Amino acid sequence: MTLTNESSGAATPFAPPEAGELVVYRGFTLFDGTGSAPRPAVSLVVDGSVIRSVADETDVAAALADGAEVVDLTGHFVTPGLIDAHQHLATPPDRPAAEAILRRLVHSGVTAVRDMADDLRQVGDLARAALVGEIAAPDIHYAALMAGPGFFDDPRTHQVTRGAVPGHVPWMQAVTDTTDLPLAVALARGTYASAIKVYADLEAGLVAAVTAEAHRQGIPVWAHAAVFPATPGEVVAAGVDTVSHVTLLAHEAAKEPLTSYKDKPAVDHENLVTGEDARLDALFARMREQDVVLDATAGMWASAELAGDDPESVERARRQTELAIALTAQAHRAGVALATGTDYETAPGEPFPALHEELAFLVKRCGIPAPDVLRSATLVGARSAGTAHLTGSVEPGKLADFAVFARDPLADIDHLRTITLTVKRGRRFPRAAYATTPSRETR
Ligand SMILES: [Zn+2]
Repeated sequence: MTLTNESSGAATPFAPPEAGELVVYRGFTLFDGTGSAPRPAVSLVVDGSVIRSVADETDVAAALADGAEVVDLTGHFVTPGLIDAHQHLATPPDRPAAEAILRRLVHSGVTAVRDMADDLRQVGDLARAALVGEIAAPDIHYAALMAGPGFFDDPRTHQVTRGAVPGHVPWMQAVTDTTDLPLAVALARGTYASAIKVYADLEAGLVAAVTAEAHRQGIPVWAHAAVFPATPGEVVAAGVDTVSHVTLLAHEAAKEPLTSYKDKPAVDHENLVTGEDARLDALFARMREQDVVLDATAGMWASAELAGDDPESVERARRQTELAIALTAQAHRAGVALATGTDYETAPGEPFPALHEELAFLVKRCGIPAPDVLRSATLVGARSAGTAHLTGSVEPGKLADFAVFARDPLADIDHLRTITLTVKRGRRFPRAAYATTPSRETR
């Protein structure tokens, strides 16, 4: 007998399966994300939301004896679930638009995203709905932002704090030398954020103080690569965990001291585009030493969204793309761990998300080998989100987060478009179930 007649809550059609529900996936080639070479004819046993065994025929036999469901993937290619390390799902908040983007992502092989600060009142609920299976979506890990007071005339900060005072909400705080940082970090954590995003208009000393306090309270710092006036070198020296936007690293070679985010001095473009600038080499060596992940967003300036339509913005996008290619390739050569973030999305009617474009950009324009790019999009992405212990590779004990392709994306990165199935936390999202205009949008 139940003690209450309360509703059990919203329907969860995309909830992960219960522990004890066994599925055997068989016959595929596996790129497991650990750095091992792809293996043919692999079988995988999934128990609920967790991978129980990989390429273990004894366990497959045991699972079959226990009545496991069988999914035949003969001839297919499996990678860990892809991770977009730089999304903005709610600037400004628009729940139907965010749900449509999330649905396309999860049907395109993406099992997790980092949301790099938005209106967290909405992102928090999207993350919850994604986790319990109310909506078809990747897992969402998000950051609460901190910046200097000067940043809060930016119209985006008003869009994400509507009804409140920009800079004075727990998910987007203006900080100064007099801020009570232990309280500010605790407020940010109260939003359920995975990290603090350090954005703009902060001195090096304050970036270091915020980072030290965040780490003391056990959460990472995801910084913009240049914070103004804090330089990329100062941001890295502050001990942050990840830096975003490879083109901002160019400000390590600024021609004048940095002042504010709005007022960026010229960079030494001609030297930087050689990909051999010594100042950047020194920075990359330090990033590698400290294990700082670079969320490059390399293809952003080549996207339709940022291409621009007047000659001046077209030229700006061209130069930024040229810089992104040179610096991303240099960072990769220097052994810096790259995560694959986008910071834009393809148009709503497009079948595939921006992340597929970023991966293609890294392979074709930056010349990074496809296995390295797929590792960036999976295990390094998980590291960037602070979840490498849970996901990012196909290994026993990790979440059953993986993507299934009809053709090998290592042979041609455009084969990402041959996605047939995404599995997130053991829940299957067949590509065939995806239509570009879901019914709720056409209502
Ligand atoms: Zn961003």
